[in-house]
Amino acid sequence: MIQRERVIQEFQELARLRSATHCERRLADVLKARLVGLGLEVAEDHAGEVFGGDCGNLVADLPGDAAGPTLLLSAHMDTVEPSAGVQPLYDGEVFRSAGDTILGADDKAGIVAILEALRVLNEKRLPHPPLQVIFSVAEEGGLNGIRHLDRSLLHANLGYVFDGEGEPGWITTAAPGQDRLQVVVHGRAAHAGLAPELGVNAILVAAEALAAMPMGRIDGETTANVGMIQGGWATNIVPDRVELALEARSRDIGKLARQTGMMVESFQRAAAARGAPPRRRYAGCAFGPAGCPACWPEPPAGDDRRG
Ligand SMILES: [Zn+2]
Repeated sequence: MIQRERVIQEFQELARLRSATHCERRLADVLKARLVGLGLEVAEDHAGEVFGGDCGNLVADLPGDAAGPTLLLSAHMDTVEPSAGVQPLYDGEVFRSAGDTILGADDKAGIVAILEALRVLNEKRLPHPPLQVIFSVAEEGGLNGIRHLDRSLLHANLGYVFDGEGEPGWITTAAPGQDRLQVVVHGRAAHAGLAPELGVNAILVAAEALAAMPMGRIDGETTANVGMIQGGWATNIVPDRVELALEARSRDIGKLARQTGMMVESFQRAAAARGAPPRRRYAGCAFGPAGCPACWPEPPAGDDRRG
C-alpha cells in the first residue's frame, strides 16, 4: 500500500525546495504537476496578490466513485525561516536538518502524506468519495493564505488538515477561540507635586481595572492574560495615557464572550470611577466550537453538497 521508500524520497525532495512564506511559487508548480499527474483538476486562486506573495492557494479536485460527503485534505506549502539550503538528513528513523536551517516538516510532511494517499488510491483503484486537496500559501505568520482563499472553489463537506503536533494518529478536534483587546486608557495630565488633584492617573485606572478582572486560568477551557502595558512619562507627571494588550481564549464561544465582556466592563467601571472614559479598539477572532469532522452527521440526501 504505502510505499515507504517513495515517501522518504519525496519528503527529501520537497524539503530541499525552498518555499518561504510569500515565495511558494517553485514548490506550487511542482505540486501542481504532481496533482495533475494523479488525475486531479487543479485551480490556483489569487490569494498571493492580496499580501504580496508570488503564488496563490492550490485547490484541486478528484471526482469520487463512492457515495459520501466530499472530503478535504489540506496542508500548507510555506515554511518559516531560515529555509535556504535545507539538507534533510535521514538516519533510518528520523529526519533532521543539518542544523543551520529548519527541516520544513511543518508542513511538507503533511503534503507528502496527502500525495502518497492520492497515489495509493490511484494505484489500488480504491473506492473513495469526491476529494478536494488544498495546498495553501502563507500559513505561517497568521493564516493569510487561507484567510484569502477563494471560497467559491471550496465545496468539501468536511476536512482534515495535516498540520498538527503529537503522535501519529493524534487528531486535534477543537481549538480555542481567541479575543484580543487593545485598550487605551485616557486620563488627564497634571504636575504630580504641584497639583495632583487636577490630574486623572491613567496608570491607576488601568491597575484598578486589572485588579478587578478574572485573569489567568479561568476554567478548564478558558484563560485570560494581560500581556503588555505601556504608559507614563516621568515620576512628577500624573500619566494621561496607558496602553494595554490583553487576550482571552476559550474552547467555548459563550465562555469566551463572557470573559471578554468582564474584561471590558472592568475597564469601563474603573474608568468611570475616576472620570477617564476608555476608548476601546477591539480586534477579535474565534473558531467555532469544533468537533471531529468524521463525527459530523452526513448532509441529508438531496443536499447538493453531497458528493
Ligand atoms: Zn504548519
